[in-house]
Amino acid sequence: MSAPTPRVAVVGGGWAGLACAVELCAAGVPVCVFEAAKQLGGRARRVDIEGHALDNGQHLLLGAYRETLRVMRLSGADPERLLRRCPLELACPRDGFHLRLPRLPAPFNLAAGLLTAKGCPPGEKLAAVRFVRALQTSAYRLADDISVAALLDRHRQTGNLRRLLWEPLCLAALNTPPQHASAQIFANVLRDVLGGTRESSDLLLPRADLNRVFPDAAASFIAAHGGEIRRSARVGRIEQPLAIDGESFSHAVIATAPRQAAGLLREHTETRDIAALLDTYRFEPIGTVYLAYPDTLRLSFPMLGMSGPLGQWVFDRGQLGNVGGLMACVLSAQGAWDERDDASLAAALHGELRTTLARALPDPAWHRVIRERRATFSCRPGLLRPAAETALRGVWLAGDYVFADYPATLESAVRSGCHAARRILREADDG
Ligand SMILES: Cc1cc2nc3c(=O)[nH]c(=O)nc-3n(C[C@H](O)[C@H](O)[C@H](O)COP(=O)(O)OP(=O)(O)OC[C@H]3O[C@@H](n4cnc5c(N)ncnc54)[C@H](O)[C@@H]3O)c2cc1C
Repeated sequence: MSAPTPRVAVVGGGWAGLACAVELCAAGVPVCVFEAAKQLGGRARRVDIEGHALDNGQHLLLGAYRETLRVMRLSGADPERLLRRCPLELACPRDGFHLRLPRLPAPFNLAAGLLTAKGCPPGEKLAAVRFVRALQTSAYRLADDISVAALLDRHRQTGNLRRLLWEPLCLAALNTPPQHASAQIFANVLRDVLGGTRESSDLLLPRADLNRVFPDAAASFIAAHGGEIRRSARVGRIEQPLAIDGESFSHAVIATAPRQAAGLLREHTETRDIAALLDTYRFEPIGTVYLAYPDTLRLSFPMLGMSGPLGQWVFDRGQLGNVGGLMACVLSAQGAWDERDDASLAAALHGELRTTLARALPDPAWHRVIRERRATFSCRPGLLRPAAETALRGVWLAGDYVFADYPATLESAVRSGCHAARRILREADDG
């Protein structure tokens, strides 16, 4: 006798839930996605500002985002069209720092990029090459999980390369300050980005709003494959035997952020321990300050380092398919920026941009500040992560925090969603 076809409820229409639903639909399994908001995309979604389709936060993808690129293609979103691919290039004009990886096979591209970097003395470059070599030799496994700052101390990373390369990379990837960030997770990211193929280190800059990059295509794919998406549909409780609002499902994938997952898991004795674990998580904010300049303003590269004190990166949205002159400044993790009001923050970023570009700038025609208070979990040394499988019959977890190898990113969200889908498919196959 063959096992009955599963019917899966996916709770959450962020990138994890949508990736899970796409994967299941592609295998012919009916899904129903419940999304609490009116809109899909979760923490990576479109917002409309001054008549422009922008994002709740500037996002950057990387060539190493293998699963994200695969699921985008599967759902009909073309990465070549929607993402601008550039070899890794990090520049802080204010400090005269510039690093670009040449189009050489890995790992020679990294060594050549570090050795030819401008704005740092030869001793720092050699120390950086030795650091990367040491990570490679240990297969990116650290004996103990320490902070990124301690790892950099241990490998004598000092001066400009520390301040302008490693620390900003840590903040960008883990959204956690180096003195608190997990060195092991940082090493995992370096492994996949710098230790993979040449293409793995490419920057992939969205040239459409985030909903067009994946969630819109995912929604069409799910609908075309017999799935259903319910928006403005918050799930308040997962019943046992497995049901949501009295509607039965064979499986449920909780693909929300950690806090909402804890709320759903706490009610069941079988999953109270996971809820208690998630309750210990701390979170980090991200701010995005949009500044609208005349369309004559164009950066030398669509993404430049601002080297603070408040802003870390500025993205030229005009070069990324949006209105010319629109700049998005990124403020990662907890910091002094979050205590300022919007107007003073925008004025401060305007000043920092002038310093970064070393030129006078007209006042922006308008500004907008978006603060995501719980943008990511704080990625600390030794942070425990739950498994995808739970002790509650038929209930699985997905979400950026579940993929234990990575910090909170689009790729970890997508990988966790695909993983949950595959496990459900395997379980169904095994009957
Ligand atoms: C400003 C900002 C900048 C970022 N920059 C980058 C970047 O450059 N690169 C990168 O890779 N990552 C970046 N990230 C991280 C990335 O966006 C997240 O890791 C990823 O989007 C998380 O996806 P998720 O599906 O796991 O969770 P979420 O996006 O949080 O999705 C969960 C969904 O579940 C819904 N939900 C919650 N509770 C319920 C319920 N009870 N019933 C139904 N639905 C519910 C929510 O509304 C939400 O839509 C950034 C994040 C932010 C906020």
